Amino acid sequence: MPLPRRLLILGSTGSIGTQALDIVERSDELELVGLSAERSWEALVEQARVHGVSRIALADPIAGARAAEAWTDGEVLTGAEGLVRLVIESGADLVLNALVGSAGLGPTVATLGEGIDLALANKESLVVGGDLVTQLAEATGAQIIPVDSEHSALHQLIAGERAGTVDKLVLTASGGPFRGRTRDQLDDVTVEEALAHPTWAMGGKITIDSATLINKGLELIEAHHLFGTSYDRIDVVVHPQSIVHSYVLLCDGAALAHLGYPDMRVPISYALHYPDRVDVPIRPLDLAEVGALTFEHVDTEAFPCLRLARDAARAGGTAPCVLNAANEVAVHAFLEGRLSFLGIPAVIEAALERLPPGPVRAFESLYEADREARAVAAELIAVRA
Ligand code: NAD
Ligand code: MG
Repeated sequence: MPLPRRLLILGSTGSIGTQALDIVERSDELELVGLSAERSWEALVEQARVHGVSRIALADPIAGARAAEAWTDGEVLTGAEGLVRLVIESGADLVLNALVGSAGLGPTVATLGEGIDLALANKESLVVGGDLVTQLAEATGAQIIPVDSEHSALHQLIAGERAGTVDKLVLTASGGPFRGRTRDQLDDVTVEEALAHPTWAMGGKITIDSATLINKGLELIEAHHLFGTSYDRIDVVVHPQSIVHSYVLLCDGAALAHLGYPDMRVPISYALHYPDRVDVPIRPLDLAEVGALTFEHVDTEAFPCLRLARDAARAGGTAPCVLNAANEVAVHAFLEGRLSFLGIPAVIEAALERLPPGPVRAFESLYEADREARAVAAELIAVRA
């Protein structure tokens, strides 16, 4: 029997992280070597106890100090450097990056820089890091296996296709809780309404991103970098049932789709076991029970975020980084009641106008653009309040 794969989970207390632990528990092929969270140290220590892990990292130093006091059975690393040390020093064969936001870029770079394979849920690190991230993976030979359901679907769909035969990638979008509404009807939506996703149960930030549809914009950029596909060959279609996770159009007129009930344990298991497949306790897809699968165009009038993302993607340079940072700050403000729902695209658009795209020479250009965009977005939000 082959040795189990040594797995490190970053962001293990989150939505993806806890579902990944469910997969690990059922698998003989994975051995956990480390876990991390931002500040929820009690949950993290509990996970370490349950899973017999001896090294954890907390991004928040105060939470890290508490954990070190309470838990003496292992080592607690802290801060952004602690996360990077966890990656570099744990002897992992595979890192699952399930952090949220551009905070995931540092650990993505550390992982790939060490030549360690990366199961990537943190789409933001690819949106922000772009070519630098994929070039780093190429240089060290590390693989990036997507966890995002659409990209997992595409990864599986194009695996057997020769170069030049895939004409188009089509990402499906649920449309979020506000599908079908006009722009005017989005004026006074509440945080609770925006958090009520119709098909997927996810963390807060990505749930809001799905409601504004910027999530699909981030995924467009993610797909471009993962598969090296030009933007004019990546489309988006709204599919409210979230059964078709994406499809591809081939040069001979064939279209291949990937289907399944919406359950993130499927793409998580795929990424953690690739190229193998193992059993996941999911009920078999019953299309007769589903009944109808429907598809519609994206309403970019009501949901301008997808257009903003496409424009930023085409502009290139630091633009996707600015788009992402402004979105993170705007979503945070929306969740705290300091910004309206329609304020989110407005802040992103204004931030992109204020900060024209610059060249990206090194990761430092990105960290700087991220900082600058956060400051500008915060200022724009304060002015609107
Ligand atoms: P979440 O908010 O539920 O969990 C985030 C995890 O990261 C937590 O463990 C948290 O402690 C940690 N974390 C947050 N900020 C951090 C920071 N600054 N430094 C270090 N650790 C930090 O998020 P999620 O919904 O699990 O999403 C994780 C990533 O996966 C996101 O990039 C999201 O877009 C992507 N994704 C999620 C889903 C889903 O179903 N939840 C689906 C597709 C893609
Ligand atoms: Mg997705």
